[in-house]
Amino acid sequence: MKDDYKLQLLWSARNRKAIQRLFAGWRRKAPKDLDAQVHRGHEAAFNRIDCLVCANCCKTTSPIFKERDIVRIAKHLGMKVADFSSRHLKRDVDGDWVLKSAPCPFLEEETNACRIYSERPQACREFPHTDRKNMRAILDITEQNAHLCPAVSSVVQSILNEVKAGK
Ligand code: SF4
Ligand code: SF4
Repeated sequence: MKDDYKLQLLWSARNRKAIQRLFAGWRRKAPKDLDAQVHRGHEAAFNRIDCLVCANCCKTTSPIFKERDIVRIAKHLGMKVADFSSRHLKRDVDGDWVLKSAPCPFLEEETNACRIYSERPQACREFPHTDRKNMRAILDITEQNAHLCPAVSSVVQSILNEVKAGK
């Protein structure tokens, strides 16, 4: 990961308490324009951050594989669904299919490219979810992602800065 992406995650680590307070406040009463605030931060973050230079999500966590993802990817790889699942996937505590290991076996080590990009799971397409509607519904995962994804960390930092500036 690039140094400034690491620095961004270091900011999250150093400001864990402030991030907890921000999200706790949103859980009690989210601002009406929460989606707009997050979407502004998302756009600014991804103008600066290149996922191909980062790939921290692919290296450290697993997406959830829905049944339709599994069928599509297994077909793409010319594998039987059962073989694909037993080779790459396990059930997590919630009963969802996730990768057995990290980094993701489909991550190209040299380039950070996804070997199954066109067929990747829906969860990978949507990560880190900071451009979706109703951010209020995914506050827990977004708070966790602020410590994993430099883009989410940047979104949270920009909002905290605005709060501090009284905007
Ligand atoms: S989504 Fe976040 S963690 Fe994943 S590669 Fe992009 S910036 Fe990095
Ligand atoms: S399937 Fe592709 S995008 Fe998803 S975690 Fe693996 S390498 Fe990353």
